[in-house]
Amino acid sequence: MNLVPDIRNKPKAAAVDKANQTRARWNFCALSKRRLQEPVVSCALGKLYNKDAIIEFLLDRDAYGDGENICSHIRSLKDVKTLTLTPNPAPAALGTEPSERPQFVCPLTMKEMNGAMPFVYLRPCGCVFSAGGLNAMRSTPPDGATDGEKDTCPQCAAKYIRAADCIPLNPGAEQEESLRFALEAQRLLEPVKKSKKRKAAAADPAAEPPAKKAAIAVPSIATASNSLRSTLAMEEAKRKAGMSDAVKALYAGKDSVRKETFMTMGTFTRYA
Ligand SMILES: [Zn+2]
Repeated sequence: MNLVPDIRNKPKAAAVDKANQTRARWNFCALSKRRLQEPVVSCALGKLYNKDAIIEFLLDRDAYGDGENICSHIRSLKDVKTLTLTPNPAPAALGTEPSERPQFVCPLTMKEMNGAMPFVYLRPCGCVFSAGGLNAMRSTPPDGATDGEKDTCPQCAAKYIRAADCIPLNPGAEQEESLRFALEAQRLLEPVKKSKKRKAAAADPAAEPPAKKAAIAVPSIATASNSLRSTLAMEEAKRKAGMSDAVKALYAGKDSVRKETFMTMGTFTRYA
């Protein structure tokens, strides 16, 4: 009956497997699976990649077999940020492989970036810190509304908004899902690009003219003529028609489809 060995009954093996997964996530490119090598970039979901792998993927989306699973959300280099990482100054312990040593540390606490504690990068500048170290350096009050007051990056002095600009690196499954949700919400607000597939608009009669959304994305729309408005509405309808099932599910207010899609995405997240 039971032909497949049940690894759940082998907690030791599972622990080793988890440790390997963690090591892979923090030391290897999520796309190419090669060792991380600067320039390293991260996406809106906090995954780590070698920049050259992302460029290869953008030039040929089939360059890596499971590339679309892992970074279908990356459309151009604008969707990733080059990270400013701090090399680990500690020598590798005697008798251990240099590759076993975490490559990077938090410049504030010198804690190693090895998955033992959360790390974040700042969206505006790409500087990477341990979450704890960065929290201790905040210039704004730790709680309550900051009324748009911005924090300052302790490494390069770039301004950032705490709530929106601290992207966790290699987040947990739940955190990743909310990052993905935020990313999709943000993309719905992006100005519509011109598309040649006009027929798609007619194919989706359910699409409503999203005058409000367009108004947020393009401030001048409020004063636009009716004809321009309807053109924009049509563009939006077309875009919706071409959207992924996951995003459609967002529109329909259904969580199930989205969840399923997200949970099955990405080699590493599968084990998260
Ligand atoms: Zn910075």
